[in-house]
Amino acid sequence: AAQIPALAEPSPPTDLHAAAVRTLSLAHDLSDAIDRGQLDLYYQPIVRLVDGSLAGFEALVRWRHPQLGVVRPDEFIPLAEKTGLVHRIGQWVLKRATTDWPLLRQRCAATSQGAPFISVNLSAPELCNPGIVESIRDCIASSHIAASELRIELTETVIISSVELVSSAIAQLRTMGVGIALDDFGTGYAGLDYLQTLPFTAIKIDRAFVAQMHDSERSFQIIKSALELSRLLGIATVAEGIEDAKTGAMLASMGCNYGQGYHYARPLPLQDLLGAGTPT
Ligand code: C2E
Ligand code: CA
Ligand code: CA
Ligand code: CA
Repeated sequence: AAQIPALAEPSPPTDLHAAAVRTLSLAHDLSDAIDRGQLDLYYQPIVRLVDGSLAGFEALVRWRHPQLGVVRPDEFIPLAEKTGLVHRIGQWVLKRATTDWPLLRQRCAATSQGAPFISVNLSAPELCNPGIVESIRDCIASSHIAASELRIELTETVIISSVELVSSAIAQLRTMGVGIALDDFGTGYAGLDYLQTLPFTAIKIDRAFVAQMHDSERSFQIIKSALELSRLLGIATVAEGIEDAKTGAMLASMGCNYGQGYHYARPLPLQDLLGAGTPT
């Protein structure tokens, strides 16, 4: 290695440098995170907009890194997709979510507008894994839940490398009765194409539109037409990122079925949800 001249100032790490170091160390540590019990699952309530009753939960993975604190999935899931670890993480998430569901289900309100559900995020590479349908079936069977209580969320923002594999997995899951939601609707480049080819049972309107709906006529019209489109296709709608009452009320008046966001609740650990009083 070249000698650094004694008098030269060491160059301070740039933000890019720090980011690269963080990525490398996260990629390195992630392989042991499951075995060391560092992963956790948080649950965010999803409400029926018409009456505010609790309809279900979305499971959101967290990584408690011993040095870096809580690392959000936006940061480590893309890494896990590159290294293939996402399959083990997905297995862990599915097992945890289906095991916890019988406890969480009791918190949900039983109404005439559809049975309670638990939503789990799977990335496209996970759905391409040949064993995925079988392992979802096993999780459902061993926790004695109904397949119709489980909903898989697939984001449209990633490029699906094999539409054939994904659609075969989705078709099998639909036959079992598992629900399939198109996540982050409106932000990907292929949303309408996926809606045409894959049998989604719900769409989730991305919070980028929801956040702008009062200030931007365009965002408002895009949401309106997404709701209209879903109604025509006979699929359910979930609005993400609702942060105030005004937004929730407006989406309800526009006919959106479900809502989710900090206005109702943040994602919470299981214990907090079970310990809490009777939900509204
Ligand atoms: P997502 O599926 O779109 O999840 C919604 C994200 O929005 C969550 O971030 C949630 O905490 C956040 N959120 C909820 N309500 C509000 C709100 O009112 N305002 C704002 N600003 N944000 C809100 P989170 O938990 O950091 O997850 C980020 C993404 O990571 C998820 O986006 C999902 O794509 C992915 N992800 C999470 N858990 C898993 C998992 O188990 N497996 C896979 N493959 N991906 C996951
Ligand atoms: Ca999601
Ligand atoms: Ca989303
Ligand atoms: Ca998202």
